[in-house]
Amino acid sequence: MMDLNDVAALVTGAGSGMGAVTARMLAERGARVAVLDLDLDRARQTAAAIGGLAVSADVSNGPSVEAALQQVVDELGAPRVAVSCAGIAPAARIVGREGPHKLDLYQQVINVNLVGTFNVLRLASARMATLEPISESGSRGVIVNTASVSAYEGQIGQAAYSSSKGGVVALTLPAARELARFGIRVMTIAPGLIGTPMLLNMPAPVQDSLAGQVPFPQRFGRAEEFAELVLHIIDNEMLNGEVIRLDGAIRMQPT
Ligand code: NAP
Repeated sequence: MMDLNDVAALVTGAGSGMGAVTARMLAERGARVAVLDLDLDRARQTAAAIGGLAVSADVSNGPSVEAALQQVVDELGAPRVAVSCAGIAPAARIVGREGPHKLDLYQQVINVNLVGTFNVLRLASARMATLEPISESGSRGVIVNTASVSAYEGQIGQAAYSSSKGGVVALTLPAARELARFGIRVMTIAPGLIGTPMLLNMPAPVQDSLAGQVPFPQRFGRAEEFAELVLHIIDNEMLNGEVIRLDGAIRMQPT
């Protein structure tokens, strides 16, 4: 179990949903948490509630995350925990009523979800690698990424989203292998349907139909269940280079 007291932790997308709850639960374990989001006001709301540090950055932008991370290092120290929750999920068909999928929309989704995850991973791990080991095995820190079951069973309209999350899945093992020499673990969680604004903003009939597809328990997952898994991953040193589905056994249908 990692002693998180006074350990610095960075959570992206922490102005909302799973990131916000993960930030809170890390703070409850004693971590000094940097709450990173595109929207500074939202980051401030989360940070104020947990005594964290609000930072604003676009995860897909190199200099933006570099500057945010520098602020985190200056104010909290280099993070031993970095959790990527920032993401977007716009739906669009490859050939839709209004013509072919907009290429810039596809690029934007890849940029935020995949390039953004890699950007945080590369910058956070470079900082983590400079820290002293904190376990007998030489552990320096943990990176947790967020993919989606859409990486495996993308639905119609999710070409961009599924591609981006498939990239996050594929990034996990090579990153874990490479960062092993620094004692940095890399894990990914692939959530199914979690009751966050991303889902709860959908029309009620869509939500009911989606929840009905979960074999058991037949409901949306809770952001707390995601955050508990993040904490378990942090605590369990043998978890490395793997993707864990958190999905109540759902296998998404084509539509
Ligand atoms: P959420 O409530 O929408 O939170 C995502 C946060 O990321 C938002 O605060 C968003 O800010 C922020 N963000 C978006 N683009 C960003 C950028 N370029 N730089 C920094 N922050 C950015 O979503 P969530 O449901 O908690 O999702 C968290 C992660 O889980 C996402 O990666 C999502 O794809 C994944 N996931 C969610 C579900 C689900 O059922 N909810 C299922 C599978 C996977 P703005 O609101 O200002 O854009």
